[in-house]
Amino acid sequence: MDSTRPVVVLTDRAWPDDEIERRILDAAGFDLVAGPADPGTAEEIEALVTAHDPVAIMTCWARVSDAAVAAPSNLGAVARMGVGLDNIDVEAATARGIRVTNVPDYCVEEVSDHAVALILNWTRGITSFDAQVRTGSWNPAGARLARTASKTVGLVGFGRIGRATARKLTGFRTRILVTDPTLGADEAADLGVERTPLDELLATAQIVVLHVPLLPTTHHLIGAEQLAAMRADALLVNVSRGGLVDTVALADALDHGIIAGAALDVLDEEPEVDPRLLAHASVTVTPHVAFSSDESVVELRTKATEEVVRVLTGRPPHYPCNDIAEPDPITAGATSPAVDAKEDK
Ligand code: NAD
Repeated sequence: MDSTRPVVVLTDRAWPDDEIERRILDAAGFDLVAGPADPGTAEEIEALVTAHDPVAIMTCWARVSDAAVAAPSNLGAVARMGVGLDNIDVEAATARGIRVTNVPDYCVEEVSDHAVALILNWTRGITSFDAQVRTGSWNPAGARLARTASKTVGLVGFGRIGRATARKLTGFRTRILVTDPTLGADEAADLGVERTPLDELLATAQIVVLHVPLLPTTHHLIGAEQLAAMRADALLVNVSRGGLVDTVALADALDHGIIAGAALDVLDEEPEVDPRLLAHASVTVTPHVAFSSDESVVELRTKATEEVVRVLTGRPPHYPCNDIAEPDPITAGATSPAVDAKEDK
């Protein structure tokens, strides 16, 4: 490592190495300092950035706090290696004129596939039958399966991923209800979905899928009151963020038969899994992998790192997440032919 080159800190990662990030940064004149793969605490991240004084911080799951964005002497960018920004203090970064970026489009297919897979697992019983067969049971007469096409699915959130889920569900001929303030009546009609207020969607849908970001306004969007409003035969699917659902209220609702099941890729206190949820055969949990495929991870890492290089070399980011004046370029790589060539692609 050349100690004169500016440093970019990678706080954590959800993949085996940091080769892609290191190669792109190196070609642009920056050194990468990588923390451990598993996300450290907010305090550990603060110590990491204090020790290395980076010009950019790249984070997967680790929390980038107000103190972490305040510590470096010349921080230009905080890049989320993902979609949701709930682990970054965006307000603190904005107040300091620090650009925040994400990669909003790298896993739209994967997350919508995952939502549909969890829905099909519910109607067709794949994981439960597989588990039974592995214990030596072969009992087709015991099947209680459902016709997917007969289901009414409620999508809460109709952005990139919600729209992709709707497009895929259209092929299964389900009825689709949508709650999203940005969906207009004409567009809903064109897409064959029904604009529905949340209370009506919860009362009607047999499958409720969450595709909203975690914001102060959506924290515990689904709590005891909303669960009580759902059908007793309903499945709740959460492939967005654990904090959207009050886990205690969900476990209570399952214990008391208020809803029938849950399919969760995300949990409030990852990696803790509430044993009350796992006590129910009607609960399926995957370990926050909806985003993941070999293709999506390479796309994410490449786009997130190239975005950091763009910001640090004074180019406008493709995915700005806050409103700030364009900062001066941080010198390394600003005139690098390697960066210019990449930009021309
Ligand atoms: P997006 O920004 O394109 O769409 C979000 C939509 O939610 C917007 O249309 C917005 O209007 C709507 N919305 C916001 N608050 C709402 C509310 N209270 N009620 C109804 N609608 C509301 O985001 P996206 O790309 O579709 O991603 C959605 C979320 O999926 C992300 O924020 C992220 O948390 C999550 N995600 C999870 C994984 C995973 O691996 N499990 C991967 C990627 C994204």
